[in-house]
Amino acid sequence: MIMRMKIVAGNWKMNTTVPEGVELAKNVLAKVSEKPSDVKLILGVPFTHLAGVAEAISGSGIGLAAQNCADKESGAYTGEVSAAMLKSVGCGYVILGHSERRQYYGETDERLVAKIALAMKEGLAPIFCVGETLEQREAGNHFSVVESQIRNVLFTLTPEQAASVIVAYEPVWAIGTGKTATAGQAQEMHAHIRKVLAGRFGDVAETMPVLYGGSCKPSNAKELFACADIDGGLIGGASLNADDFLAIAKSF
Ligand code: PEP
Repeated sequence: MIMRMKIVAGNWKMNTTVPEGVELAKNVLAKVSEKPSDVKLILGVPFTHLAGVAEAISGSGIGLAAQNCADKESGAYTGEVSAAMLKSVGCGYVILGHSERRQYYGETDERLVAKIALAMKEGLAPIFCVGETLEQREAGNHFSVVESQIRNVLFTLTPEQAASVIVAYEPVWAIGTGKTATAGQAQEMHAHIRKVLAGRFGDVAETMPVLYGGSCKPSNAKELFACADIDGGLIGGASLNADDFLAIAKSF
């Protein structure tokens, strides 16, 4: 049996000032020994927080993620932050394709193809987000929507590159709403995602972590993480509290 990495990744979104964020990272660090040793923690923090958080968690084994990167390598792109910059500040991961970026900032599959290639070039592991809206689920299109998000972007990678990708299934209707997918709904989609990945990447798909995201919290993490194809969580709101974040990491 293949053992996939277990991951609990926080997505702080646009929350906390730099001092507050560094304090939160230190609080997570102070409790890190409480989690099982085979669970990897990752903190997805705003760009402004990366240097301070990198210093705070240095040498701890906690991973550092940015929440986006530019679709260009370098140059006259005011306001953008490149994959190389993220690498140079100590990031190991970058969240790409989050539904909030797709919904509010016009993130397209085409841009994501460019972003993921640049992340790969820098050796950053993408946390690639997919998920359907409520309307798409109610129309019965959730499997095909998620499949096309994967095909349009991840299928541009080689199996060697795909081996470093973490997929996050985040039903849009469950993000920040307090509504969680049932363990049955999540497992069914995760199994579908793995089947789609296997169709392109073969055995590598068995090693790719697929995380669940959407109102995951200490009270529901255990049931979700017990599912065969759920390898952990991408945690929004509950990652802003060190105790809740660690409680989730203890839910495997
Ligand atoms: C997210 O946006 O990645 C997320 C899962 O948010 P929340 O946990 O707050 O629903």
